[in-house]
Amino acid sequence: MAEDIHTLVVGGGQAGIAMSEHLGRRGVPHLVLERHRIAERWRSERWDSLVANGPAWHDRFPNMTFDDLDPFAFAPKERIAAYFEEYARMISAPVRCGVEVTRVEMVANGFRAETSDGVVTCRNLVSATGAFQKPLVPALVPEELGIVQMHSTAYRNPAQLPEGAVLVVGSGASGSQIADELLRSGRRVYLSVGPHGRPPIRYRGKDFVWWLGVLGEWEAKAQPGVEHITIAVSGAHGGRTVDFREFAARGMVLLGRAGAVSGPVMAIGDDLAKNIAGGDRHYFGVLDGADAHVAATGLDLPEEPEARILPPDPDCVTNPLRELDLKAVGVGAIIWATGFATDYGWLPLGRYDTRGMPVHQGGVSEVPGLYFVGLPWLTRRASPFIWGVWHDADRIAGHIAARDEGLRLAAG
Ligand SMILES: Cc1cc2nc3c(=O)[nH]c(=O)nc-3n(C[C@H](O)[C@H](O)[C@H](O)COP(=O)(O)OP(=O)(O)OC[C@H]3O[C@@H](n4cnc5c(N)ncnc54)[C@H](O)[C@@H]3O)c2cc1C
Repeated sequence: MAEDIHTLVVGGGQAGIAMSEHLGRRGVPHLVLERHRIAERWRSERWDSLVANGPAWHDRFPNMTFDDLDPFAFAPKERIAAYFEEYARMISAPVRCGVEVTRVEMVANGFRAETSDGVVTCRNLVSATGAFQKPLVPALVPEELGIVQMHSTAYRNPAQLPEGAVLVVGSGASGSQIADELLRSGRRVYLSVGPHGRPPIRYRGKDFVWWLGVLGEWEAKAQPGVEHITIAVSGAHGGRTVDFREFAARGMVLLGRAGAVSGPVMAIGDDLAKNIAGGDRHYFGVLDGADAHVAATGLDLPEEPEARILPPDPDCVTNPLRELDLKAVGVGAIIWATGFATDYGWLPLGRYDTRGMPVHQGGVSEVPGLYFVGLPWLTRRASPFIWGVWHDADRIAGHIAARDEGLRLAAG
């Protein structure tokens, strides 16, 4: 016998919990199925020392604070997982853990979901399976070289890696934080720096997440055809602006794009100076926007001219390596902080674009009753983040309730 539920939410991360809150408020009967535990990715797909990139006053849902944390502190990943578990309890979210949805098909009046614990039928289905689903590792370095390779989701701590130098590829939040941790642990670190933005963690006494808010940046829409760059930001060590020059001053070797490997030699792109300059442009753009906002509004915030002083480019930027003999420099491990792909094999409905992203309008699919929440740029920049997903979930729950009402009226 199939279990029948009005709305099925697949995934019990922050997106699934937010969906449950908003569906519950609207009286929409629903069930959240989570294949592992609530907020599983925060528990088992992140490195040990990870803390939130935004402070506790911001990286949370509106209806519950982190009572045990200073609002300006950065919550450790276990605390974030505990927060969502507490939150689910607070709202009595109907979450069933340990149940995986393996296949969904359309049936009359809705969907039929096969799960690891039987069949569920539903009128609406919300996919809340995350923006960061399947680790992406470029096939550049042959296994025969005998170098340990792992994606950033598998990295835990420096002690896990074999002796020797480490090459970290990718300079977003994950790559820059992991490279910094390895350097602090005494490793020789090579970091391949791609195009990135690097906002100041604080400016004129305010957190960058606050500035992104007042400058309207969280509301920014995806621009079709514009490649969105990764953001290097870190809440580690009390929150510090990621500065690749400072990494180099501490001994890290910065590299351009990691390229093809021939024998033990990796080709390195000549884009390092360009990428560092692009990061600086982004950094100064935030300072300029903030200063213009202060000038326009008369806000009483202290000036911070020292934030505009950057140290000179290090030698590895002015005389960049164009190849790296991985064996000669003793690279024992490579961490690929190279992002994620989607994995919707279980949901063969509607259309997916060339990157495997579902086609939707603000989370509303072309397939009636099918929704997505938690994806990058779902409605705006904030969409995949803790603070943003709650608001998107509200909108989608509103759509589900309105659709119900429409169906009721149409039925007379
Ligand atoms: C390294 C890293 C650091 C981040 N730091 C921050 C931060 O500091 N602040 C911030 O706001 N955001 C941060 N993010 C972004 C975002 O908040 C997290 O990625 C968050 O985990 C996304 O939540 P989600 O609920 O959308 O997806 P997920 O956390 O991925 O949750 C999806 C859930 O669905 C489950 N699932 C998947 N498929 C199925 C299935 N078929 N059946 C049943 N269950 C299924 C999974 O087990 C998982 O628990 C970070 C992301 C990364 C990668």
